[in-house]
Amino acid sequence: MIYLDHAATTKTAPEVVEAMLPYFTEYYGNAGSIYRLGTESKKAVIRAKETIAATLHVQPNEIYFTSGGTESDNWAIKATYEACRDKGNHIITTKIEHHAVLHTCEYLEKQGAEITYLDVDEDGLLDTEQLKKAIRPDTILISVMYANNEIGTLQPIKEIGEIAASHGILFHTDAVQVYGQLPIDAEDCHIDMLSASGHKFNGPKGIGFLYIKRNIKMRSFMHGGQQERGRRAGTENVAGIVGLEAAVKRAYRIMEEKTKMETELRDYLIGRILQEIPDTRLNGHPVKRLPGNVNVSFAAVEGESVLIMLDMQGICASSGSACTTGALDPSHVLLALGVSSELARGSLRLTLGEDNTREEMDIVVEELKQIVGRIREHRI
Ligand SMILES: *Cc1c(COP(=O)(O)O)cnc(C)c1O
Repeated sequence: MIYLDHAATTKTAPEVVEAMLPYFTEYYGNAGSIYRLGTESKKAVIRAKETIAATLHVQPNEIYFTSGGTESDNWAIKATYEACRDKGNHIITTKIEHHAVLHTCEYLEKQGAEITYLDVDEDGLLDTEQLKKAIRPDTILISVMYANNEIGTLQPIKEIGEIAASHGILFHTDAVQVYGQLPIDAEDCHIDMLSASGHKFNGPKGIGFLYIKRNIKMRSFMHGGQQERGRRAGTENVAGIVGLEAAVKRAYRIMEEKTKMETELRDYLIGRILQEIPDTRLNGHPVKRLPGNVNVSFAAVEGESVLIMLDMQGICASSGSACTTGALDPSHVLLALGVSSELARGSLRLTLGEDNTREEMDIVVEELKQIVGRIREHRI
């Protein structure tokens, strides 16, 4: 099997599983209990916050554990909307956000929010001048993803953060595709809230965090016990939190080498596909791009057919985001870049991880040449 869908999820690293196991079998205490078994769990949670906070250059009590990227995005946007109603109801985001952000915004529109969905250019980049023009006196939040999960384009986050800060507007970023892959300095980029998810960087599924800068206006997301300073009630997922911490340590240990290796493989794969398969276009920015992201569109080809035929050869890939796979709608991200809906339907996303090799890239290119050729010939 050749796994090329690391933007959808990754394998839980063995050292992550190993770190978690004692928190099922031995240290199973409730982190809220006062006896020693409970305090072992509590200590593990505190340690994990310290580890994560250090990577972002923030404070441990600004890290809140959640069930993952989707919950973090929902929390940041819904709770800001509730908390800032006295100031306004206007939120600025982009047309290429993950559905966890877009569908949350659409839900809030039904509650009375006004949302501006900013355009991006043909490479998926936000125009900061357009952002400045969209700001109104009643704007309460700017939510822009750090990197796009389909096309890999990295946004000018520091510039966006500076614009938000200079207008006194809260800034949230969905950094699910970036945290654990590239270094992030939340203070330096003026980020008020940041979403991350463990399973995108070899951690377990169902655990992530939301960074919430101290002293910002924000509502509780889960009501119940006093966990997470009363803002996100519910018994802590201690084993998951320990696994997340282990994945963070591992990700930062291998980050530099992994980035270098993935970037080389990415550019090799893009180069060969564009050169050897006619009528193919690269989607996303050529260099301001996640190290492991390849997204191409083949003219006169149905992406779903390519996926099925790749699967028959043991190759796991995606036509865009996992959430839209199975649906026949073309990707909202590609449409926002100005790609025609016909070409958008012929798109393929290959996302790399540290276990992938050049030999695998060669196999994939050869398979793709055959598959795309055959589909074009028979129009299947
Ligand atoms: C995967 C992903 C999410 C959702 O995260 P989950 O932990 O799977 O809920 C949100 N945003 C982006 C950009 C993602 O890639």
